[in-house]
Amino acid sequence: MNVRDSELVSGILMQAGCHLVDSAESADIILLNTCAVRQNAEQRVIGRINHLSAFKNNSSKTIGVLGCVPQHMGQDLLDSVPSIDFILGPDSYRCLPEILDSALDRRYAMCKLDKTELYEGLPHHRAEKSPSAFVTIMRGCNRMCTFCVVPHTRGRERSRKSEDVIDEVRRLIDDDVKEVILLGQTVNAYQDGTTRFDRLLWQVAETGIPRIRFTSPHPSFFREEELEAIAECDAVCEWVHLPVQAGNSDVLARMRRGYTIEEYIDITHRIRDRIPRVALTTDIIVGFPGESEEQFEDTLSLMAECRFDSSYYFKYSPRPGTYADRAYDDDVDDEEKQRRLERVIELQSELTVSSNQKFEGRTAEILVTGRGDRGPDQWLGRTRENKIVIVESKEDLLGAMVDVKITGTGTWSMRGELKR
Ligand code: SAH
Repeated sequence: MNVRDSELVSGILMQAGCHLVDSAESADIILLNTCAVRQNAEQRVIGRINHLSAFKNNSSKTIGVLGCVPQHMGQDLLDSVPSIDFILGPDSYRCLPEILDSALDRRYAMCKLDKTELYEGLPHHRAEKSPSAFVTIMRGCNRMCTFCVVPHTRGRERSRKSEDVIDEVRRLIDDDVKEVILLGQTVNAYQDGTTRFDRLLWQVAETGIPRIRFTSPHPSFFREEELEAIAECDAVCEWVHLPVQAGNSDVLARMRRGYTIEEYIDITHRIRDRIPRVALTTDIIVGFPGESEEQFEDTLSLMAECRFDSSYYFKYSPRPGTYADRAYDDDVDDEEKQRRLERVIELQSELTVSSNQKFEGRTAEILVTGRGDRGPDQWLGRTRENKIVIVESKEDLLGAMVDVKITGTGTWSMRGELKR
């Protein structure tokens, strides 16, 4: 989501006459786009600004910090890092040219959430001409998961009009894009008044885009029509990223996720029954306040039962302003969180290896999205299940959809040979 927002910010600035340079030293304006979802992300941002401040050896350089960290920290951020000239929250990027034009004789902060801001009519600039592009279809979040800062930093949920989404996809097709990844915090809650998420998938498919992905759907909104669209619509890839967060219903209730573990498992069964080749991935938090050893073990059991193809896993990080931070004691110590995380990582590696091994010897269609890092002939692509495949070819394959035979598998990626 932030990658797409940065493309939006670049687009806004380039329309206003700026151009991109390739180093902080040669820039007049340095902008950082930020994420506040965990505390270490926030700390990294502050470290990075302090580092960049070294380039600000004359007053003509302007440093701006954008996104969720300013939204979350507000004046505290300006107070703690003197080199910052201005901060803008995620709903204020439209003002960027105006702010840069003004004399900036005082430090500026604009962090008002705006539930009408959908950034229509503004250009995006994609620095890397990847054949895969993000499309933000909704902003904000109406869930109030007790651990999560997102509703506080990005405001209420609002969906873009489906016509605007389709127009954007068409423009991306003109720009040689072969795959779009539809984005929203609860992407399957998409609803523009007349069009719901499943209909939108069909409409995007009608543009002729070869591949469609989306992230992240929320288990509570997973409707039959959506499953039908994923199963029946050729362009929609066989990959569902369905964040579970924890494997125990009491923990889920304290997280206020809105589903029980039985309901979650039931959805995964429906998905696997309907789309047998699907890759299922998830997000997991370990060490949520009050999570006992037994409750943590339930997360491991759930992972084994659902056979996740891969997952993102995090140690619980208390976020100021959230309900969990106010109401619960962060009582699982860091050492224990780390131990739990390592057990999750270990189990996930086994599950990923065994899921990848099933590909061995098979033919898979990959979309080549970039170069590998070992030599000019190495290319990196993704299968429809979102598995990374590395192939060798002297030909320029960027953006090509090619069939490969899978010759080797590991945890992070698989190897393939081009089929002639
Ligand atoms: N809207 C998505 C999640 C967006 S944040 C959803 O609800 O599914 C991405 C992931 O970061 C979350 O799924 C969660 O696993 C993790 N996360 C969010 N807040 C966190 C916190 N306070 N501590 C640790 N991980 C967190």
